[in-house]
Amino acid sequence: MEELKAAAAAAQVRVAAAFDASVRAAHARAGIPEGQQGRGVAAQIALARRESPARGGRILGFSKALAHEMPCTLRALSEGRLNEWRATLLVRETACLSVSDRRLVDREVAGDPAGLEGLGDGRLIGRIRKLTYRIDQEALVRRAAKAEADRYVSCRPAPDTMTYLTGLLPVAQGVAVFAALSREADSLRARGDERGRGQIMADTMVERITGLAQADRVPLEVQLVMTDRTLLAGSNEPAYLSGYGVVPAKWARDAVRNAGSRSGGGEMTEKERPHKAGHDEPATRRRSSAAPDLWLRRLYTAPTSGELIGLDSKARFVPESLARFISARDQTCRTPWCNAPIRHRDHIRPHRTGGSTHAGNLQGLCVACNQAKEAPGWRTEKTEKPGRHTVVITTPTGHTYQSTAPPLPGARAF
Ligand SMILES: [Zn+2]
Repeated sequence: MEELKAAAAAAQVRVAAAFDASVRAAHARAGIPEGQQGRGVAAQIALARRESPARGGRILGFSKALAHEMPCTLRALSEGRLNEWRATLLVRETACLSVSDRRLVDREVAGDPAGLEGLGDGRLIGRIRKLTYRIDQEALVRRAAKAEADRYVSCRPAPDTMTYLTGLLPVAQGVAVFAALSREADSLRARGDERGRGQIMADTMVERITGLAQADRVPLEVQLVMTDRTLLAGSNEPAYLSGYGVVPAKWARDAVRNAGSRSGGGEMTEKERPHKAGHDEPATRRRSSAAPDLWLRRLYTAPTSGELIGLDSKARFVPESLARFISARDQTCRTPWCNAPIRHRDHIRPHRTGGSTHAGNLQGLCVACNQAKEAPGWRTEKTEKPGRHTVVITTPTGHTYQSTAPPLPGARAF
């Protein structure tokens, strides 16, 4: 079975590389500028492999490296002597080398079947690095520079309504941040703060990054979608918190209650101030003298289908209220398996060809997916089926994929 999986992975590599080559050739024949040839290939591979577009890009890079530059590794994968992950390690660890040096490492490490026998991840990486450092002293430096360019911050859900806020940073910066937080924790504890070290460090991180005086007073931009029954009648129907996911009903009620009862009002910052409600979006403002604003915004749910009822606009520009509505309906990028945060509200039928700015003709997409959609040969259409908002994506190869908006809180699962 392992050999079979590896052989299948090798077959996927060959197909992906061949597909990329054929699309590039077709784009060249069609007179598309060289820089834009091959656009949309990674997105199509992602859909076919049931992965996110970001992962589709990595799969394509991996496939091209193996097919064009690392024949010995590809053969070892085909024969099941390397699994897909170890082949990935070989590609990753040689990414900064010139093509000829990469071929050299490929031959040295994967060329001899006996040499791969019994080689685990750690020893495989060790063998590759010993070679790369010997071949190219500067590879390490280039790797560091490339790694530094990949710095980022991400936010992922953790269990129990917590999140992991992760920063991938150059080592000096990461160590400096951690040291600053440690120092603050030690100094506060020396002055009698009773919170744990970890707690102080976490609070300090929030306070310094948000610029707020107290971590537990971060304004909650209530992008919390729940039913009136959950909010007012103690129902257990879970709510949806934008940027996190599904949260328990009681947590949602407490969050709303705390937002309305925090003391020390009157220092509302511009960021805290809710956006002005559009004329077509009823918003109720509840304000106690000592509390920051709490806005309740009604997004009407059709009682039978659970679909949010749309709002209309004549302009191409999507008004704030409608944009919020799309974000609440779609939750994350609508491309199947993508799940990235929504960045664009895309006209499914383009405005230039008569598509209206209406909730039915809009979908939430991430930047990458919105660009992929514009590549030649892609088609997106809304289905007229009753029920939740559904679009059908047709790729240039004629494959179709369906994307249905997630069920909202309060909607019957169907
Ligand atoms: Zn996307």
